[in-house]
Amino acid sequence: MNILLPQPVEVQAVQRLEEAGHRVVTAPDPSPEKVLPLMKDAQAVILRTGITMTREIIAAADDLMVISRTGGGFDNVDLEAASDNEVIVTSNLGVNSISVCEHVLAMMLSLAKQLPRLDHAVRNDNYSIRYQNLSRDLNGKTMGLLGFGRIGFEVATACKTVFKMTVLACDPYLPDEVKADYAKLVTFVDKERLCRDSDVISVHVPLTEQTHHALSTAEFEQMKSEVIVINTSRGPVIDEEALVYALQHKIIGGAGLDVQTREPPESESLLLKLDNVLLTPHSAALTNECVIRMATDAADRTIEVLSGKKPLNVANPEVLAGSRWQHLV
Ligand code: NAD
Repeated sequence: MNILLPQPVEVQAVQRLEEAGHRVVTAPDPSPEKVLPLMKDAQAVILRTGITMTREIIAAADDLMVISRTGGGFDNVDLEAASDNEVIVTSNLGVNSISVCEHVLAMMLSLAKQLPRLDHAVRNDNYSIRYQNLSRDLNGKTMGLLGFGRIGFEVATACKTVFKMTVLACDPYLPDEVKADYAKLVTFVDKERLCRDSDVISVHVPLTEQTHHALSTAEFEQMKSEVIVINTSRGPVIDEEALVYALQHKIIGGAGLDVQTREPPESESLLLKLDNVLLTPHSAALTNECVIRMATDAADRTIEVLSGKKPLNVANPEVLAGSRWQHLV
């Protein structure tokens, strides 16, 4: 069968697909113009984040069976269109949680300890900056998690055990019995208390209509003036204009953003001009080890479907009820 890669994936995953007898086709680049014509003959797509599988792109395939995401989110797939075309969408839940968690900790430490600023000072003959006591300790402070899923859990565990932080979490969708299981690790609160009482806020929700601009002017105004806000989820979960205003006017202390509203940010973006912001290029999960895990797991999900097995982590499970998939075991 033909497996289409809109963007290249790690060689270990390609080998796995070829050893299973499939033909791998890589698009020259992930633009819709280049990917759409290649869809016609594809039975499977292994999808990173560089392109959105729109209804038009999905409908261009004659016999598409599966879209397998390398990451956990599937907001770059039109799920309804996939289901209408009886295409299974799978994603790799949890495979990158620990890598994203480490990125959050790195951003939190870097901002609390003011590493970019101190590094810059040492290189520019300003060694006496050490007497300004710019760094802050995290020990005993409060981490607030917006979203307590797989990544939120890892961050909570690290913050509690390593830094002895108090951990608050806001996640209205978690059932009470699940919340009770984590009662020793986190205190569940509403968003207002999370904003008011946290010294660091880290965002771990999917991008949905409800989470779009979940942190905006009203929320920033509730926060402590020294709070560090970290976003490794999706850019539009934070209202970037309101964030820039809050940072410029010292309403909040700093921000660590692995994701931005526009990726890459425009060259005139005000975010690029602020020194209390740490920016990374949507790379939290792109560690050497994690990209191999993500690509090989996505290849495994694909091979499962193409060989008649029900894959793990189906994002549109209703599709499995249709006649096309009754043979899956
Ligand atoms: P997850 O599905 O395990 O957890 C998400 C949690 O958010 C769930 O517990 C859910 O109940 C909660 N939630 C949903 N809507 C909410 C709301 N309005 N308010 C509060 N909580 C809400 O997901 P995860 O694996 O922890 O990942 C979180 C997000 O991180 C993903 O959706 C993805 O967009 C992003 N992500 C980014 C990278 C990266 O490279 N930067 C990598 C992996 C994941």
